[in-house]
Amino acid sequence: MEEINPENKGGNKNRNKMPRFNLTWLYVAIAIALGWLFFNSGDDDGGNASKNVTYTEFKQYVELGYANKIVASKDEGTVRMFVKPEHIRDVFKSGVKQTGKQPFVQAEYPSADKLDEFITKQQELKNFTGELSYKKSDSTFLQILWNLGPLIFIILIWMLIMRNMGSGVSGMGGIFNVGRSKARLVEKGTENESKVTFKDVAGQASAKQEVQEIVEFLKNPKKFTDLGGKIPKGALLVGPPGTGKTLLAKAVAGEADVPFFSMSGSDFVEMFVGVGASRVRDLFRQAKEKAPCIIFIDEIDAVGRARSRGAAMGANDERESTLNQLLTEMDGFGTNSGVIILAATNRADVLDKALLRAGRFDRQIHVDLPDLNERKEVFHVHLKPLKIDESVDVDLLARQTPGFSGADIANVCNEAALIAARHGKSAVTKDDFISAVDRIVGGLEKKTKVMTAEEKRTIALHEAGHATISWNLRYANPLIKVTIVPRGRALGAAWYLPEERQITTKEQMLDEMCATLGGRAAEELFTGQISSGAMNDLERVTKQAYGMIAYMGMSDRLPNLCYYNNDEYSWQRPYSEATAQLIDEEVKRMISEQYERAKALLTEKKDGHHALADLLVEREVIFAEDVEEIFGKRPWVSRTEELLS
Ligand code: ADP
Ligand code: ZN
Repeated sequence: MEEINPENKGGNKNRNKMPRFNLTWLYVAIAIALGWLFFNSGDDDGGNASKNVTYTEFKQYVELGYANKIVASKDEGTVRMFVKPEHIRDVFKSGVKQTGKQPFVQAEYPSADKLDEFITKQQELKNFTGELSYKKSDSTFLQILWNLGPLIFIILIWMLIMRNMGSGVSGMGGIFNVGRSKARLVEKGTENESKVTFKDVAGQASAKQEVQEIVEFLKNPKKFTDLGGKIPKGALLVGPPGTGKTLLAKAVAGEADVPFFSMSGSDFVEMFVGVGASRVRDLFRQAKEKAPCIIFIDEIDAVGRARSRGAAMGANDERESTLNQLLTEMDGFGTNSGVIILAATNRADVLDKALLRAGRFDRQIHVDLPDLNERKEVFHVHLKPLKIDESVDVDLLARQTPGFSGADIANVCNEAALIAARHGKSAVTKDDFISAVDRIVGGLEKKTKVMTAEEKRTIALHEAGHATISWNLRYANPLIKVTIVPRGRALGAAWYLPEERQITTKEQMLDEMCATLGGRAAEELFTGQISSGAMNDLERVTKQAYGMIAYMGMSDRLPNLCYYNNDEYSWQRPYSEATAQLIDEEVKRMISEQYERAKALLTEKKDGHHALADLLVEREVIFAEDVEEIFGKRPWVSRTEELLS
């Protein structure tokens, strides 16, 4: 998924002009202040000697007239007597040089009254001429700071860490911005104006139409409100990744001429509690200021997952409070306020039901994988910027890419251009596209993977087995390409042209199963050994057979029964032990029947099969044309061909 725009918020430009206060200096200042406090919060006895004495000793010193100044601290219950310079030696047994100018002795006093009484008496006796002063809790403040010091320090470090982690917005100011939404704003007349229009979205006719309606709402709300209609608040784009949901949303922005806020669901979720909710609030506040406008939330399942039922695990509190805030905001603004929310997900089923209620995302727009004709359109869109030569056949490309999403196709085109450039060509050719498709289908081609001649022969026999059967069975998918070049984890591979069908009949499924078993059957027949290379085939066949028998009611002994259980939390099988056994038996029977059928057909077409295998060993890659040369044209017209003609 591609970002709509570089980080930019509305009004950012003005803000950027003001000198930004660099927080780092604030941290440094606080650190210095703290340091100063640590060293000074004690007492201003820096450099002066002191001595703890008993209260009696203290009294003696005062009576002897040594006291220069007496300070008591009520909090500590201590009293300090600063020694007259001329008596320093009497008290400390050392000179001013060692003791500093204001050495003192400190004692704990029994009670303030007694101390007062004693001092007053001494003043009357002229033993002490100064005043008794109380160090009133002037240290309390410092003391609080002193106690809080470590805490402040921890908070500081926490802020620093968070600043680095959170948002990372232009290096500073992160901490005070965590609660702000990270939405990107796309607006006409600014540098991040959206240039995507509906023309850039190929296929997706029905989705496009529905989205176009939203554009109409925004452009001309009166047309709808005059008739008493209510403008929808939100629409959910549902479909697999890479099918163009973001692209559609961008196109809406481009066509509607309204500001467009784009944000990913995962942007709301931060590890700090409350941040998500405040981001939601901020996003809607910004949007309301800019109305009419569109808010696009990509991957809404990151916040919108169904709230957990068991309150015991509080782990997802943050996500839930974010979701609650989102729901509140959606309810909070009026229907005709001109803010429309689009959201994208590939898992509508996991969303909280509350999100799908009327007045929220009550519209669901399905964006599916493109079919053959749509793939052609997507190819046309992405071929436009490329320099291609006349060997490139869009029809063939579309046929070779069943199951590809729009994003995959964009990828193929880009990859083809890169391959052509690497070979120093002046235009992208058919071969480049074929390599690009291969690369994307099976990971990088590994020509270096060593294969013994015998292994190569086995793989060729296996793949030729698939090809022979699929060519000679009416309903099997006609093959377009077979290769024995190892790619990724799989050895050899065969590409078929799946028919774009709405429903599949039992005959079609059985033919397919037979063709899938053709690889293993050929190995057994012609090498006398079976290999691990058929594992994927067997897995597919087994699943298919279980599906046909347990879910589709396609076996004679269990006709018209569907044991499909869509309750994912149920561990119970909806059928008895006896039925389970029956299903297993039927699966085994179905697969072995098809296996025998494959072996029979291969025996019948032995010569053609061997010719194919030889060709594969020789060329490593063969195409439908080669198979046609060996077996002749298929006497059946495929449905795809019918649709295309
Ligand atoms: P999604 O949001 O559904 O995951 P995106 O919209 O991000 O997918 O699609 C990624 C890219 O794939 C797009 O930028 C575009 O280049 C290409 N693409 C996907 N669908 C289409 C389409 N229908 N038409 C043209 N290009 C498409
Ligand atoms: Zn196989």
